[in-house]
Amino acid sequence: MSFYTSTRKKLDNVTATQAILQGLSEEGGLFVPTHIPQMDFKLEDVLNWEYRELAYRVIRLFFEDIKEEDLRYCIWSAYDEKFDDDEITPLTVAQSANFLELFHGPTIAFKDMALSILPYFMLTSKKYHKENKEIVILTATSGDTGKAALEGFAGVPGTKIIVFFPEEGVSEVQKRQMVTQIGDNTLVVGVKGNFDDCQTGVKEIFGDKAFEKEIAEKNYVFSSANSINIGRLVPQVVYYFAAYMKLVKAGKMQIGEPMNVVVPTGNFGNILAAYYAKCMGLPIKKLICASNTNKVLFDFFENGTYDRNRTFHLTISPSMDILISSNLERLLYHIGGENTEAVTEMMESLKKEGKYTITESMKNELGDFYGGYADDETTKAYIKKVFEREGYLMDTHTAVAYAVYDEYIKATNDKTASVIISTASPYKFTSSVMTAIDSKYEGVDDFTLLEEMHTLIKGDMPKAMDHIAQKEIKHKTVCEISEMKHIVSGFLV
Ligand SMILES: *Cc1c(COP(=O)(O)O)cnc(C)c1O
Repeated sequence: MSFYTSTRKKLDNVTATQAILQGLSEEGGLFVPTHIPQMDFKLEDVLNWEYRELAYRVIRLFFEDIKEEDLRYCIWSAYDEKFDDDEITPLTVAQSANFLELFHGPTIAFKDMALSILPYFMLTSKKYHKENKEIVILTATSGDTGKAALEGFAGVPGTKIIVFFPEEGVSEVQKRQMVTQIGDNTLVVGVKGNFDDCQTGVKEIFGDKAFEKEIAEKNYVFSSANSINIGRLVPQVVYYFAAYMKLVKAGKMQIGEPMNVVVPTGNFGNILAAYYAKCMGLPIKKLICASNTNKVLFDFFENGTYDRNRTFHLTISPSMDILISSNLERLLYHIGGENTEAVTEMMESLKKEGKYTITESMKNELGDFYGGYADDETTKAYIKKVFEREGYLMDTHTAVAYAVYDEYIKATNDKTASVIISTASPYKFTSSVMTAIDSKYEGVDDFTLLEEMHTLIKGDMPKAMDHIAQKEIKHKTVCEISEMKHIVSGFLV
């Protein structure tokens, strides 16, 4: 049986479904598998499996306490027609690079890969542990996660989801995506404050014991769809196997040969999933970690010190604007000989001094990682260059990865087949992408730019953006920061 322990304390016999229900371990650590499972299939087998079957073969090794029929139900419910491509994660082979597109889900960004399946894992876990209360997901969002969580939980029986966003702090398109959300179990609220105010408000509600008791009497329990839940990480391991198989099928390498992966990174979840795939036996050579100007991770790979004491930059790749990459804690646990005291000390130091340094022996374990970064100007230049040269339009996050990849090839001359993890559709970041191509788009509104982009790249407009300007607005509530709890209470009748 696969069991989970915490990065900060040795635990026995925590099952996968317990870890999913709980989210975070009691002392604040993250759940990690006690043993990273090994592939129990051959790479050749992967060639024959469609995405869902592959997902089943990979996820079952991590979540052994979920019964086969239940796991299949979760996977087949998550990866269905919500995705606009039968392959779920298609590979596009352009002239200079291969792109694994993780943006074919309902919100056209890669968080759909995890958030479309998390609700089903939660329901299954609830059933196994006889938790009869209705799950209420509370989220504060700066844009992307909120919409992906809404799509994931909308209409899922036994759950409700409440999303708070800064009324003035998200783009017009992001706001429209959220306030047009359908589903009786959803509530979207604009807050008169910034993202931090929303986040603090949500944290206060989570920490309010009296309120917890009050809603428990109404048969509700709060939960979070936060990216540190192991139920979000494990489904991300799957697409690295899919990428491998697709590179082989595209004739980029022979089966058995290694590949490199290039991942635009923020919270370190996506690239950690690649590390898990490698530990399972998937032939991955380099894990190339791409950052934007908030290059904490680049510096960490350079000198072994993680230091968040620096200016926070708002960039054109906002989903990577992060100074604390939470999932890195899991890597520290694995490369540090599963030393929970050492991880606890480092995390305390991060909290108190804003930094920590790893040991020499841990540093030696990082040889498979390569860190790089690109600023906004470089990112925009690559969007333009690749579009004009190859006709492939990258979003700003993917372009950060491309820039780092290009620099890596120039520095190393590595001939290994590589895959760039493409985390968002260009339609999601229309303004930055269009002005990168041509400055004449400066100042043009987002909705017009959607149409302009559609004319430029042709093909189908993604469902998420189709007629977005005409969609009916379902959520009109705007509240003061101090009213958030009251709003929650009112929704939970
Ligand atoms: C969240 C996100 C990332 C960063 O992924 P992590 O798992 O947090 O490293 C990159 N690109 C996009 C578009 C995202 O939404």
